[in-house]
Amino acid sequence: MSDLVLYRKWRSRSFDELVGQPQITETLRNAVKTGKIGHAYLFCGPRGTGKTSAAKILAKALNCEKGMTPDPCGECAACIGIPNGSILDVIEIDAASNRGIDEIRDLREKIKFPPTVCRYKVYIIDEVHMLTPEAFNALLKTLEEPPPSTVFILCTTEPHKLLSTVASRCQRFDFKRISQSVIEKRLAEIGKAENLEIDSGVLTMIARSSDGSLRDALSLLDQLHSFCGQTIQKQKAELLLGQTSEEVLSRFILLLESKDLKTLLIFLNETYSNGMDLSQLIRDLMFQLRQILIFKISPEVLDLLPEEKEKMRSLSFSSEELYRYLKTLSDLRNELRTAPYPGIAIELAFIRMLRVQWEPSMEGLKKRIEMAEGKLERFLGSSPSIPSAPAPGAGTLHKTSAAGSDLSLDYIRSSWTDIVENLSASRSSLYPSLQQTLPSKLEGSVLVLSAPNSILKSRIDQKKEEVSRFLNQTLNVSLQIEVEVQPIDPDQLIREAEKIFEGAVLKEGDG
Ligand SMILES: [Zn+2]
Repeated sequence: MSDLVLYRKWRSRSFDELVGQPQITETLRNAVKTGKIGHAYLFCGPRGTGKTSAAKILAKALNCEKGMTPDPCGECAACIGIPNGSILDVIEIDAASNRGIDEIRDLREKIKFPPTVCRYKVYIIDEVHMLTPEAFNALLKTLEEPPPSTVFILCTTEPHKLLSTVASRCQRFDFKRISQSVIEKRLAEIGKAENLEIDSGVLTMIARSSDGSLRDALSLLDQLHSFCGQTIQKQKAELLLGQTSEEVLSRFILLLESKDLKTLLIFLNETYSNGMDLSQLIRDLMFQLRQILIFKISPEVLDLLPEEKEKMRSLSFSSEELYRYLKTLSDLRNELRTAPYPGIAIELAFIRMLRVQWEPSMEGLKKRIEMAEGKLERFLGSSPSIPSAPAPGAGTLHKTSAAGSDLSLDYIRSSWTDIVENLSASRSSLYPSLQQTLPSKLEGSVLVLSAPNSILKSRIDQKKEEVSRFLNQTLNVSLQIEVEVQPIDPDQLIREAEKIFEGAVLKEGDG
């Protein structure tokens, strides 16, 4: 392999090679083909997405000695000279390096002269938002009265920092982050051409680390190549990229899914002793959980392989759980900057994630109340067949288990808090009454609600139809409602609650 670093060597040289920006390349090709060349273009977008490459390809397309063409020959003096900066008519200014004061002054003096050898004078101004206000004003003046045969290509990662008077004089193109699969495909092509042997999974890791920037992806491949030689092994790649191995990551995900706190903490310790960078682990875990959450909400946003989709589909996290985990991990990352004992902070975060009922927060309280209700139901013993109901996922209705005729009393009970909370959200007048009831029996299509006293019973009796309409809508079933009086002894309630809050529930480890 030559000494050229990969990203220079494999920089796109033609519109066809410019990956991941099909609309932009199409529009630019057409402009060149039809000769409708604007005098100023604005290329915006994240770093490494092809803005400067596109600018140079456009400069070549305008100036190729074989004639203006969307497919420059790549062999003439202009095509060879433009990429390496040796053609005087194509001027590249990096506004980030010295904020462009001298260059723009120079530009103002020379702009009135026509191109010397090329068809078009092309000014490519990189990171144009970094220009000083004076340089900006000078640039604006030239944009207001553009000399003939001059094309400006302004590139920026931060278009919002541009003066609107500058932006409005340009034809704007927004470069997108390049999708993971497009990056992977391009890396594979380059790897093959460079005779690299790359373990499977490595290119995915690189693509994931590069955050939509092909340039970053190529420079990572470069680093791996100089670190590993022609054969790039997964283990070494993980080491260099500081990535958590896929096995470790998916083990963590499965442990979170099964809420197995004990095994998770043991595994965390093992991982730590094996020298893994825990802050990297947190980052990778966040990335993964975010993917799962987005997949649940709007899968089309993600660019996933079929087997990855299958894997995501098989996970049973609720969206709320995922959101809460992400929030906890994101707080943890901030905490880690100042935490005197990072290991403890990480352990506590996992405990917070899997034992929300230990938290003094509203969420913790809600979970505790749900658990107390579960205990209470068992204590009331109004139905001999109540198993220890699984705590319902905070706020979610497990509709799948209630499909059609499979609707069970257990299901209704475990969702009762959520069902009634829906009423509260809609400010229904049923809420205060139903809040004090519990479903006690399900006999055919009749659901019996227990009310603590006869006043409440008669109040609900009057609105039975409304209640059943609401329930049937919420659960997508057709039930009638009956109400019975099932007095609740307040002393027993308190004793029961005390038992629960003292930790009896927690010790069972069934949270
Ligand atoms: Zn040429």
